[in-house]
Amino acid sequence: MAKNWVYKTPGIPDEAFNQSDLVPGPTKEEIRVVTIAKARLREGDVVIDVGCGTGGLTVEAALQVGSKGKVYAIDEDQEAIKLTNSNVEKFGVQGNVSIASGRAPQALLNLPKTDAFLIGGGGVSLRAIIQIAYNKLKPNGRIVINAILLETATTAIDELKALGFKDLDVAHISIAKGKQINSGTMMMARNPITVVSATKP
Ligand code: SAH
Repeated sequence: MAKNWVYKTPGIPDEAFNQSDLVPGPTKEEIRVVTIAKARLREGDVVIDVGCGTGGLTVEAALQVGSKGKVYAIDEDQEAIKLTNSNVEKFGVQGNVSIASGRAPQALLNLPKTDAFLIGGGGVSLRAIIQIAYNKLKPNGRIVINAILLETATTAIDELKALGFKDLDVAHISIAKGKQINSGTMMMARNPITVVSATKP
């Protein structure tokens, strides 16, 4: 049973997740909100989260798809697997999350057909991962790639076009958060993220 987040909407505060200096993430809360919205998740959906890191997106996706849905989270890093596992337990979604250690794209081959693909890691294998995503996605399935590097975003755009994905959308998101100082609220910039999304024809 889900716990520690009783709301329907995504956007769990960053500090609510168990975190580690050894593992990146969680994806910042406002970026998670946009990512989940772009993925257009429904109850019962199957989701693959490539590069689950801290498990921020894994947990948010699991809460959206509910007990009839399933999230397959993979990461090549053992520390990330452990941390995702701890956050999945913290939010009570272990019943509909399957966490596997492995490197994409190889680790994706045995996973089932899916409604949405979230890609937050992939590095040099990004093109191959997007190709597998194309094959695994059901018709009208959604893919969302969160890019820190400009090169990741442009490679994703290029590959999505080459494969014939439709509804290509590119949103470059800059968030600044207010920090309380003596004289008032000072806005502190966070790294901009490019959210690239599309639909499988
Ligand atoms: N969305 C996550 C953060 C992702 S950080 C969250 O909300 O917590 C990116 C992760 O991708 C890292 O943990 C890294 O180990 C993983 N990664 C990068 N390339 C990968 C690959 N080819 N296969 C599997 N995992 C990969």
